[in-house]
Amino acid sequence: MKFIETRGNDDGKPEKVSFSQAILSPIASFGGLYVPESLPKIDKHFLENHLSSNYKELALDVLKLFDIDIDQAILESAVSLYDHFDDPAHPVPVVKIKENLFVSELYHGPTRAFKDMALQPFGVILSAIAKARQENYLILTATSGDTGPAALETFNNKENIQVACMYPSGGTSDVQRLQMVTVNSKNLKVIGINGDFDDAQSALKSLLSSNSFISKLKQEKVLLSAANSVNFGRIIFQIIYHIYSYLELLRQQEIVMDEKVYLNVPSGNFGNALGGYYAMKMGLAVENILIASNSNNVLTKLVNDGKYDIRGLEVKQTSSPAMDILKSSNVERVLYDLYGAERTKELMSDLENGQYYQLSADEHKQLQQIFMADFCEDDEGKSAIKNAFDDGYLMDPHTATCIKTYETCAKKDIKTIVYSTAEWTKFSPTIANALTGEKEADDQHALTTIAQKAKLKIPSTINALFSQEVTQSSVIDKENIEKEIVAFVVG
Ligand SMILES: *Cc1c(COP(=O)(O)O)cnc(C)c1O
Repeated sequence: MKFIETRGNDDGKPEKVSFSQAILSPIASFGGLYVPESLPKIDKHFLENHLSSNYKELALDVLKLFDIDIDQAILESAVSLYDHFDDPAHPVPVVKIKENLFVSELYHGPTRAFKDMALQPFGVILSAIAKARQENYLILTATSGDTGPAALETFNNKENIQVACMYPSGGTSDVQRLQMVTVNSKNLKVIGINGDFDDAQSALKSLLSSNSFISKLKQEKVLLSAANSVNFGRIIFQIIYHIYSYLELLRQQEIVMDEKVYLNVPSGNFGNALGGYYAMKMGLAVENILIASNSNNVLTKLVNDGKYDIRGLEVKQTSSPAMDILKSSNVERVLYDLYGAERTKELMSDLENGQYYQLSADEHKQLQQIFMADFCEDDEGKSAIKNAFDDGYLMDPHTATCIKTYETCAKKDIKTIVYSTAEWTKFSPTIANALTGEKEADDQHALTTIAQKAKLKIPSTINALFSQEVTQSSVIDKENIEKEIVAFVVG
Protein backbone atom coordinates (compact mmCIF):
# COMPACT_ATOMS: atom_id res chain seq x y z
CA MET A 1 0.00 0.00 0.00
CA LYS A 2 1.14 3.52 -0.85
CA PHE A 3 0.56 6.75 1.02
CA ILE A 4 -0.77 9.99 -0.46
CA GLU A 5 -0.96 13.58 0.68
CA THR A 6 -3.79 15.40 2.49
CA ARG A 7 -3.20 18.74 0.72
CA GLY A 8 -2.43 17.38 -2.75
CA ASN A 9 0.94 17.34 -4.49
CA ASP A 10 3.27 20.26 -5.17
CA ASP A 11 5.23 18.57 -8.01
CA GLY A 12 8.32 18.68 -5.78
CA LYS A 13 7.61 15.63 -3.64
CA PRO A 14 6.61 12.23 -5.00
CA GLU A 15 2.84 11.80 -5.40
CA LYS A 16 2.87 8.52 -3.56
CA VAL A 17 5.32 7.17 -1.03
CA SER A 18 5.90 3.90 0.76
CA PHE A 19 5.12 3.45 4.45
CA SER A 20 8.79 3.73 5.39
CA GLN A 21 9.18 6.99 3.45
CA ALA A 22 6.03 8.35 5.08
CA ILE A 23 7.39 7.65 8.54
CA LEU A 24 10.94 8.88 7.92
CA SER A 25 9.76 12.21 6.51
CA PRO A 26 6.21 12.68 7.74
CA ILE A 27 5.59 16.15 6.26
CA ALA A 28 3.95 16.05 2.81
CA SER A 29 3.45 18.75 0.13
CA PHE A 30 2.18 22.15 1.33
CA GLY A 31 2.79 21.06 4.94
CA GLY A 32 0.21 18.27 4.67
CA LEU A 33 0.27 14.75 6.10
CA TYR A 34 0.44 11.27 4.62
CA VAL A 35 -2.61 9.03 4.58
CA PRO A 36 -3.14 5.53 3.20
CA GLU A 37 -4.35 5.52 -0.40
CA SER A 38 -7.32 3.44 0.66
CA LEU A 39 -8.41 1.73 3.85
CA PRO A 40 -8.56 -2.06 3.98
CA LYS A 41 -11.79 -3.71 5.15
CA ILE A 42 -12.40 -5.83 8.17
CA ASP A 43 -15.59 -7.87 8.04
CA LYS A 44 -17.48 -10.25 10.27
CA HIS A 45 -15.22 -13.14 9.26
CA PHE A 46 -12.08 -11.22 10.15
CA LEU A 47 -13.54 -10.52 13.59
CA GLU A 48 -14.85 -14.07 14.06
CA ASN A 49 -11.43 -15.44 13.14
CA HIS A 50 -9.82 -13.25 15.76
CA LEU A 51 -12.10 -14.04 18.66
CA SER A 52 -9.45 -16.45 19.90
CA SER A 53 -6.39 -14.41 18.88
CA ASN A 54 -4.19 -12.66 21.36
CA TYR A 55 -3.31 -8.99 20.93
CA LYS A 56 -0.13 -9.64 18.97
CA GLU A 57 -1.81 -11.98 16.50
CA LEU A 58 -4.56 -9.46 15.89
CA ALA A 59 -2.00 -6.66 15.50
CA LEU A 60 0.01 -8.59 12.91
CA ASP A 61 -3.10 -9.38 10.89
CA VAL A 62 -4.31 -5.79 10.93
CA LEU A 63 -0.84 -4.64 9.81
CA LYS A 64 -0.90 -7.24 7.05
CA LEU A 65 -4.10 -5.69 5.65
CA PHE A 66 -2.16 -2.44 5.12
CA ASP A 67 0.50 -4.30 3.13
CA ILE A 68 3.37 -2.04 4.24
CA ASP A 69 7.01 -2.27 3.14
CA ILE A 70 8.33 -3.61 6.45
CA ASP A 71 9.64 -7.17 6.81
CA GLN A 72 7.46 -9.56 8.74
CA ALA A 73 10.32 -10.30 11.16
CA ILE A 74 10.57 -6.62 12.06
CA LEU A 75 6.81 -6.34 12.54
CA GLU A 76 6.96 -9.39 14.79
CA SER A 77 9.69 -7.91 16.92
CA ALA A 78 7.76 -4.60 17.04
CA VAL A 79 4.56 -6.16 18.37
CA SER A 80 6.52 -8.37 20.75
CA LEU A 81 7.01 -5.24 22.84
CA TYR A 82 3.42 -5.72 24.02
CA ASP A 83 5.00 -8.57 26.04
CA HIS A 84 6.39 -5.86 28.32
CA PHE A 85 2.88 -4.81 29.30
CA ASP A 86 1.40 -5.97 32.62
CA ASP A 87 -0.36 -8.97 31.07
CA PRO A 88 1.21 -9.95 27.74
CA ALA A 89 -1.83 -11.98 26.73
CA HIS A 90 -4.15 -9.05 27.47
CA PRO A 91 -2.19 -5.83 27.25
CA VAL A 92 -5.44 -3.82 27.02
CA PRO A 93 -7.96 -4.86 29.70
CA VAL A 94 -11.55 -3.82 29.00
CA VAL A 95 -13.37 -3.32 32.30
CA LYS A 96 -17.10 -2.94 32.87
CA ILE A 97 -17.76 -0.02 35.24
CA LYS A 98 -21.51 0.08 34.96
CA GLU A 99 -24.39 -1.05 32.78
CA ASN A 100 -23.48 -0.17 29.16
CA LEU A 101 -20.21 1.53 30.19
CA PHE A 102 -16.77 -0.03 29.67
CA VAL A 103 -13.24 1.28 30.06
CA SER A 104 -10.52 0.16 27.68
CA GLU A 105 -7.28 0.64 29.63
CA LEU A 106 -4.49 1.72 27.29
CA TYR A 107 -1.95 2.48 30.01
CA HIS A 108 -0.50 -0.88 31.04
CA GLY A 109 2.82 -0.32 29.25
CA PRO A 110 6.23 0.61 30.66
CA THR A 111 5.59 4.36 31.10
CA ARG A 112 2.00 4.03 32.37
CA ALA A 113 0.32 6.18 29.70
CA PHE A 114 -1.27 5.31 26.38
CA LYS A 115 1.61 6.72 24.32
CA ASP A 116 3.29 3.33 24.83
CA MET A 117 0.61 1.63 22.70
CA ALA A 118 2.03 3.18 19.56
CA LEU A 119 5.51 4.42 20.46
CA GLN A 120 6.77 1.06 21.68
CA PRO A 121 6.36 -0.76 18.33
CA PHE A 122 7.08 2.42 16.34
CA GLY A 123 10.55 2.67 17.90
CA VAL A 124 11.48 -0.81 16.75
CA ILE A 125 10.34 -0.11 13.19
CA LEU A 126 12.03 3.27 12.88
CA SER A 127 15.32 1.94 14.18
CA ALA A 128 15.13 -1.08 11.85
CA ILE A 129 14.53 1.12 8.80
CA ALA A 130 17.39 3.44 9.75
CA LYS A 131 19.71 0.48 10.17
CA ALA A 132 18.69 -1.12 6.87
CA ARG A 133 19.36 2.18 5.08
CA GLN A 134 22.61 2.64 7.02
CA GLU A 135 21.46 6.08 8.11
CA ASN A 136 21.58 7.77 11.48
CA TYR A 137 18.64 9.77 12.75
CA LEU A 138 18.21 12.37 15.41
CA ILE A 139 14.65 12.23 16.74
CA LEU A 140 13.48 15.46 18.29
CA THR A 141 10.53 15.49 20.63
CA ALA A 142 8.87 18.17 22.70
CA THR A 143 6.67 16.85 25.44
CA SER A 144 4.13 18.07 27.93
CA GLY A 145 4.81 14.91 29.92
CA ASP A 146 3.72 11.59 28.39
CA THR A 147 5.30 11.45 24.93
CA GLY A 148 8.79 12.15 26.30
CA PRO A 149 9.03 9.18 28.67
CA ALA A 150 7.45 6.87 26.07
CA ALA A 151 9.84 8.00 23.31
CA LEU A 152 12.89 7.67 25.59
CA GLU A 153 11.78 4.22 26.66
CA THR A 154 11.28 2.94 23.13
CA PHE A 155 14.53 4.35 21.68
CA ASN A 156 16.67 3.46 24.69
CA ASN A 157 19.90 1.96 23.27
CA LYS A 158 18.37 1.55 19.80
CA GLU A 159 20.87 1.47 16.96
CA ASN A 160 21.15 4.33 14.45
CA ILE A 161 18.91 6.56 16.57
CA GLN A 162 19.62 9.43 18.95
CA VAL A 163 16.86 11.21 20.81
CA ALA A 164 16.74 14.76 22.14
CA CYS A 165 13.70 15.32 24.30
CA MET A 166 12.62 18.78 25.44
CA TYR A 167 10.23 19.36 28.32
CA PRO A 168 9.03 22.51 30.08
CA SER A 169 10.93 22.72 33.38
CA GLY A 170 8.34 22.83 36.14
CA GLY A 171 5.55 22.07 33.68
CA THR A 172 5.24 18.31 34.16
CA SER A 173 4.30 16.14 37.11
CA ASP A 174 7.15 14.86 39.32
CA VAL A 175 6.64 11.33 38.02
CA GLN A 176 6.76 12.44 34.39
CA ARG A 177 9.91 14.49 34.98
CA LEU A 178 11.67 11.69 36.86
CA GLN A 179 10.78 9.22 34.11
CA MET A 180 12.81 11.44 31.79
CA VAL A 181 15.69 12.82 33.85
CA THR A 182 16.74 9.42 35.20
CA VAL A 183 17.34 7.82 31.80
CA ASN A 184 20.94 6.91 31.33
CA SER A 185 21.91 5.85 27.81
CA LYS A 186 24.34 7.59 25.61
CA ASN A 187 21.86 7.88 22.71
CA LEU A 188 19.35 9.83 24.82
CA LYS A 189 19.42 13.49 25.82
CA VAL A 190 16.81 15.21 27.98
CA ILE A 191 16.63 18.99 28.15
CA GLY A 192 14.51 21.08 30.47
CA ILE A 193 13.46 24.40 28.97
CA ASN A 194 12.88 27.55 31.02
CA GLY A 195 9.37 28.12 29.73
CA ASP A 196 6.10 26.31 29.08
CA PHE A 197 5.12 23.56 26.66
CA ASP A 198 4.48 26.04 23.86
CA ASP A 199 8.07 27.26 24.24
CA ALA A 200 9.37 23.70 23.99
CA GLN A 201 7.14 23.05 20.99
CA SER A 202 8.16 26.22 19.17
CA ALA A 203 11.84 25.51 19.89
CA LEU A 204 11.34 22.13 18.26
CA LYS A 205 9.63 23.62 15.23
CA SER A 206 12.34 26.20 14.68
CA LEU A 207 15.03 23.50 14.91
CA LEU A 208 13.22 21.33 12.38
CA SER A 209 13.40 24.16 9.87
CA SER A 210 16.80 25.65 10.84
CA ASN A 211 19.29 25.37 7.97
CA SER A 212 22.30 25.94 10.20
CA PHE A 213 21.16 23.18 12.51
CA ILE A 214 20.44 20.74 9.68
CA SER A 215 23.79 21.38 8.03
CA LYS A 216 25.64 20.87 11.32
CA LEU A 217 23.87 17.54 11.64
CA LYS A 218 24.77 16.67 8.05
CA GLN A 219 28.46 17.12 8.84
CA GLU A 220 27.96 14.42 11.43
CA LYS A 221 26.00 12.30 8.89
CA VAL A 222 22.87 12.61 10.95
CA LEU A 223 19.37 13.12 9.52
CA LEU A 224 16.51 14.71 11.35
CA SER A 225 13.17 13.11 12.11
CA ALA A 226 10.32 13.53 14.56
CA ALA A 227 8.25 11.07 16.54
CA ASN A 228 5.22 13.28 16.99
CA SER A 229 1.71 12.00 16.78
CA VAL A 230 1.11 12.99 13.15
CA ASN A 231 3.53 10.25 12.12
CA PHE A 232 1.52 7.51 10.42
CA GLY A 233 3.92 5.00 11.95
CA ARG A 234 2.18 5.79 15.24
CA ILE A 235 -1.37 6.05 13.88
CA ILE A 236 -1.33 2.56 12.41
CA PHE A 237 -0.83 1.09 15.89
CA GLN A 238 -3.73 3.17 17.20
CA ILE A 239 -6.25 1.43 14.95
CA ILE A 240 -5.56 -1.98 16.45
CA TYR A 241 -6.73 -1.42 20.02
CA HIS A 242 -10.13 -0.15 18.88
CA ILE A 243 -10.69 -3.43 17.06
CA TYR A 244 -9.32 -5.35 20.04
CA SER A 245 -11.67 -3.57 22.45
CA TYR A 246 -14.66 -4.49 20.29
CA LEU A 247 -13.46 -8.11 20.23
CA GLU A 248 -13.17 -7.99 24.02
CA LEU A 249 -16.83 -7.00 24.35
CA LEU A 250 -17.73 -9.88 22.04
CA ARG A 251 -15.62 -12.28 24.12
CA GLN A 252 -17.22 -11.02 27.32
CA GLN A 253 -20.60 -11.64 25.64
CA GLU A 254 -21.62 -8.08 26.29
CA ILE A 255 -22.45 -7.56 22.60
CA VAL A 256 -23.21 -9.77 19.60
CA MET A 257 -21.45 -9.57 16.24
CA ASP A 258 -22.26 -6.35 14.33
CA GLU A 259 -23.84 -4.69 17.36
CA LYS A 260 -22.98 -1.01 17.29
CA VAL A 261 -21.06 0.70 20.09
CA TYR A 262 -19.98 4.23 20.95
CA LEU A 263 -16.25 4.94 21.17
CA ASN A 264 -15.53 7.70 23.71
CA VAL A 265 -12.06 9.25 23.38
CA PRO A 266 -10.27 11.85 25.54
CA SER A 267 -8.72 13.93 22.78
CA GLY A 268 -5.81 16.29 22.27
CA ASN A 269 -3.90 15.91 19.05
CA PHE A 270 -6.60 13.50 17.83
CA GLY A 271 -4.41 10.44 17.14
CA ASN A 272 -6.48 8.19 19.37
CA ALA A 273 -9.79 9.37 17.90
CA LEU A 274 -8.40 9.10 14.37
CA GLY A 275 -7.50 5.46 15.04
CA GLY A 276 -11.14 4.90 16.01
CA TYR A 277 -12.35 6.71 12.89
CA TYR A 278 -10.17 4.52 10.67
CA ALA A 279 -11.37 1.37 12.47
CA MET A 280 -14.96 2.51 11.83
CA LYS A 281 -14.23 3.18 8.15
CA MET A 282 -12.65 -0.25 7.91
CA GLY A 283 -15.93 -1.76 8.99
CA LEU A 284 -16.03 -1.86 12.79
CA ALA A 285 -19.62 -1.48 14.05
CA VAL A 286 -19.39 1.99 15.58
CA GLU A 287 -22.46 4.16 16.08
CA ASN A 288 -20.56 7.39 16.81
CA ILE A 289 -17.19 8.51 18.08
CA LEU A 290 -17.59 10.76 21.12
CA ILE A 291 -14.84 13.34 21.43
CA ALA A 292 -14.08 14.47 24.97
CA SER A 293 -12.11 17.67 25.57
CA ASN A 294 -11.20 19.77 28.59
CA SER A 295 -11.79 23.53 28.71
CA ASN A 296 -9.56 23.87 25.64
CA ASN A 297 -12.72 23.01 23.76
CA VAL A 298 -11.93 23.73 20.09
CA LEU A 299 -12.83 20.18 19.05
CA THR A 300 -16.22 20.40 20.77
CA LYS A 301 -16.96 23.58 18.83
CA LEU A 302 -15.77 22.04 15.57
CA VAL A 303 -18.15 19.12 15.93
CA ASN A 304 -21.07 21.07 17.34
CA ASP A 305 -20.81 24.34 15.36
CA GLY A 306 -18.82 23.38 12.25
CA LYS A 307 -16.12 25.97 12.95
CA TYR A 308 -12.48 25.61 13.92
CA ASP A 309 -11.85 28.88 15.67
CA ILE A 310 -8.72 29.65 17.65
CA ARG A 311 -8.68 33.42 17.06
CA GLY A 312 -7.34 35.18 20.12
CA LEU A 313 -7.26 31.98 22.16
CA GLU A 314 -4.47 30.91 24.46
CA VAL A 315 -3.97 27.41 25.75
CA LYS A 316 -5.53 27.03 29.18
CA GLN A 317 -3.69 24.96 31.75
CA THR A 318 -5.99 22.24 33.04
CA SER A 319 -5.72 19.15 35.19
CA SER A 320 -5.71 17.04 32.01
CA PRO A 321 -2.53 18.61 30.57
CA ALA A 322 -1.99 16.06 27.77
CA MET A 323 -5.15 17.48 26.19
CA ASP A 324 -4.17 21.16 26.55
CA ILE A 325 -3.92 21.86 22.86
CA LEU A 326 -5.46 24.25 20.34
CA LYS A 327 -4.12 22.98 17.01
CA SER A 328 -5.16 19.38 16.89
CA SER A 329 -3.03 18.05 14.05
CA ASN A 330 -4.70 14.77 13.17
CA VAL A 331 -8.08 16.39 12.45
CA GLU A 332 -6.58 17.13 9.05
CA ARG A 333 -6.71 13.46 8.13
CA VAL A 334 -10.45 13.36 8.80
CA LEU A 335 -10.94 16.50 6.68
CA TYR A 336 -9.09 14.81 3.87
CA ASP A 337 -11.08 11.62 4.17
CA LEU A 338 -14.43 13.44 4.16
CA TYR A 339 -13.83 16.37 1.83
CA GLY A 340 -10.79 15.55 -0.33
CA ALA A 341 -7.36 17.13 -0.83
CA GLU A 342 -8.34 20.39 -2.50
CA ARG A 343 -10.78 21.36 0.22
CA THR A 344 -8.41 20.22 2.98
CA LYS A 345 -5.68 22.45 1.59
CA GLU A 346 -8.11 25.37 1.57
CA LEU A 347 -9.32 24.77 5.13
CA MET A 348 -5.83 24.28 6.53
CA SER A 349 -4.55 27.41 4.87
CA ASP A 350 -7.51 29.34 6.34
CA LEU A 351 -6.48 28.00 9.72
CA GLU A 352 -2.82 28.84 9.28
CA ASN A 353 -3.46 32.33 7.94
CA GLY A 354 -6.52 33.39 9.88
CA GLN A 355 -6.68 30.96 12.86
CA TYR A 356 -10.15 30.00 11.63
CA TYR A 357 -12.10 27.85 9.20
CA GLN A 358 -15.73 27.16 8.68
CA LEU A 359 -17.31 24.06 7.18
CA SER A 360 -20.25 24.31 4.79
CA ALA A 361 -23.60 23.05 6.07
CA ASP A 362 -23.20 19.82 4.09
CA GLU A 363 -19.67 19.24 5.33
CA HIS A 364 -20.76 19.87 8.89
CA LYS A 365 -23.56 17.34 8.53
CA GLN A 366 -21.10 14.72 7.27
CA LEU A 367 -18.87 15.33 10.28
CA GLN A 368 -21.79 15.01 12.68
CA GLN A 369 -22.80 11.68 11.21
CA ILE A 370 -19.62 10.33 12.74
CA PHE A 371 -18.58 12.48 15.68
CA MET A 372 -20.31 13.87 18.75
CA ALA A 373 -18.48 16.02 21.30
CA ASP A 374 -18.55 17.74 24.63
CA PHE A 375 -16.00 19.22 27.01
CA CYS A 376 -15.38 18.89 30.71
CA GLU A 377 -14.21 21.62 33.10
CA ASP A 378 -11.68 20.66 35.79
CA ASP A 379 -14.23 20.66 38.61
CA GLU A 380 -16.59 18.43 36.62
CA GLY A 381 -13.69 16.08 35.98
CA LYS A 382 -12.88 16.00 39.68
CA SER A 383 -16.46 15.04 40.53
CA ALA A 384 -16.34 12.34 37.87
CA ILE A 385 -13.18 10.89 39.48
CA LYS A 386 -14.78 10.97 42.92
CA ASN A 387 -18.07 9.41 41.78
CA ALA A 388 -16.33 6.66 39.82
CA PHE A 389 -14.12 5.94 42.82
CA ASP A 390 -17.13 5.71 45.15
CA ASP A 391 -18.55 3.16 42.68
CA GLY A 392 -15.30 1.19 42.78
CA TYR A 393 -13.25 2.45 39.83
CA LEU A 394 -10.14 4.65 39.92
CA MET A 395 -9.57 6.82 36.85
CA ASP A 396 -7.15 9.56 35.85
CA PRO A 397 -8.21 13.15 34.96
CA HIS A 398 -7.94 12.57 31.18
CA THR A 399 -10.16 9.53 31.26
CA ALA A 400 -12.55 11.43 33.50
CA THR A 401 -13.28 13.99 30.76
CA CYS A 402 -15.14 11.21 28.94
CA ILE A 403 -17.82 10.92 31.61
CA LYS A 404 -19.39 14.27 30.76
CA THR A 405 -19.42 13.38 27.05
CA TYR A 406 -20.95 10.03 27.90
CA GLU A 407 -23.72 11.70 29.86
CA THR A 408 -24.57 14.32 27.26
CA CYS A 409 -23.97 12.42 24.00
CA ALA A 410 -24.50 8.68 24.47
CA LYS A 411 -28.28 8.81 24.13
CA LYS A 412 -28.94 5.40 22.59
CA ASP A 413 -29.25 2.30 24.72
CA ILE A 414 -26.00 0.76 23.44
CA LYS A 415 -22.58 0.02 24.90
CA THR A 416 -19.92 2.72 25.23
CA ILE A 417 -16.16 2.11 25.31
CA VAL A 418 -14.29 4.87 27.15
CA TYR A 419 -10.55 4.91 26.43
CA SER A 420 -8.41 5.33 29.52
CA THR A 421 -5.14 7.02 28.62
CA ALA A 422 -3.17 7.17 31.86
CA GLU A 423 -2.67 5.26 35.08
CA TRP A 424 -3.53 7.00 38.37
CA THR A 425 0.19 7.13 39.22
CA LYS A 426 0.91 9.73 36.52
CA PHE A 427 -1.51 12.40 37.72
CA SER A 428 -1.74 11.62 41.40
CA PRO A 429 -1.99 15.15 42.88
CA THR A 430 -5.21 15.87 40.95
CA ILE A 431 -6.68 12.49 41.78
CA ALA A 432 -5.79 12.68 45.48
CA ASN A 433 -7.39 16.11 45.60
CA ALA A 434 -10.54 14.79 43.91
CA LEU A 435 -10.79 11.98 46.44
CA THR A 436 -9.99 13.86 49.64
CA GLY A 437 -10.49 17.56 48.92
CA GLU A 438 -6.98 18.17 50.34
CA LYS A 439 -4.08 19.62 48.42
CA GLU A 440 -1.02 17.35 48.42
CA ALA A 441 2.52 18.70 48.76
CA ASP A 442 3.90 16.62 45.88
CA ASP A 443 3.47 13.45 43.84
CA GLN A 444 5.00 11.22 46.50
CA HIS A 445 2.49 12.28 49.13
CA ALA A 446 -0.38 12.09 46.65
CA LEU A 447 0.60 8.59 45.58
CA THR A 448 0.63 7.45 49.20
CA THR A 449 -2.77 9.00 49.88
CA ILE A 450 -4.37 7.29 46.88
CA ALA A 451 -2.70 3.97 47.56
CA GLN A 452 -4.08 4.00 51.11
CA LYS A 453 -7.57 5.07 50.11
CA ALA A 454 -7.82 2.67 47.18
CA LYS A 455 -5.97 -0.15 48.98
CA LEU A 456 -3.54 -0.34 46.08
CA LYS A 457 0.21 -0.67 45.96
CA ILE A 458 2.28 2.02 44.31
CA PRO A 459 3.90 0.18 41.39
CA SER A 460 7.57 -0.51 42.08
CA THR A 461 8.72 1.18 38.88
CA ILE A 462 7.03 4.41 40.00
CA ASN A 463 8.33 4.18 43.57
CA ALA A 464 11.85 3.54 42.35
CA LEU A 465 11.89 6.81 40.40
CA PHE A 466 12.12 8.82 43.60
CA SER A 467 15.41 7.25 44.64
CA GLN A 468 17.01 6.94 41.20
CA GLU A 469 19.95 9.13 40.30
CA VAL A 470 19.18 12.17 38.14
CA THR A 471 21.47 11.79 35.13
CA GLN A 472 19.95 14.45 32.87
CA SER A 473 20.21 17.71 34.71
CA SER A 474 20.27 20.27 31.87
CA VAL A 475 17.76 23.06 32.27
CA ILE A 476 18.47 25.86 29.81
CA ASP A 477 17.03 28.92 28.06
CA LYS A 478 15.47 28.52 24.62
CA GLU A 479 18.33 30.39 22.95
CA ASN A 480 20.82 27.69 23.93
CA ILE A 481 18.95 24.63 22.74
CA GLU A 482 20.58 24.32 19.36
CA LYS A 483 24.08 24.48 20.83
CA GLU A 484 23.19 21.92 23.49
CA ILE A 485 21.78 19.44 20.98
CA VAL A 486 24.66 19.84 18.52
CA ALA A 487 27.10 19.14 21.37
CA PHE A 488 25.15 16.00 22.22
CA VAL A 489 25.13 14.77 18.59
CA VAL A 490 28.85 15.41 18.15
CA GLY A 491 29.35 13.49 21.41
C1 LIG B 1 -1.56 12.10 24.54
C2 LIG B 1 -2.63 11.93 25.55
C3 LIG B 1 -3.98 12.23 25.26
C4 LIG B 1 -4.42 12.81 23.94
O1 LIG B 1 -4.37 11.87 22.89
P1 LIG B 1 -4.41 12.33 21.38
O2 LIG B 1 -4.19 11.09 20.60
O3 LIG B 1 -3.30 13.33 21.19
O4 LIG B 1 -5.75 12.94 21.12
C5 LIG B 1 -4.92 12.01 26.26
N1 LIG B 1 -4.56 11.56 27.49
C6 LIG B 1 -3.28 11.28 27.80
C7 LIG B 1 -2.96 10.83 29.18
C8 LIG B 1 -2.26 11.45 26.84
O5 LIG B 1 -0.99 11.17 27.18
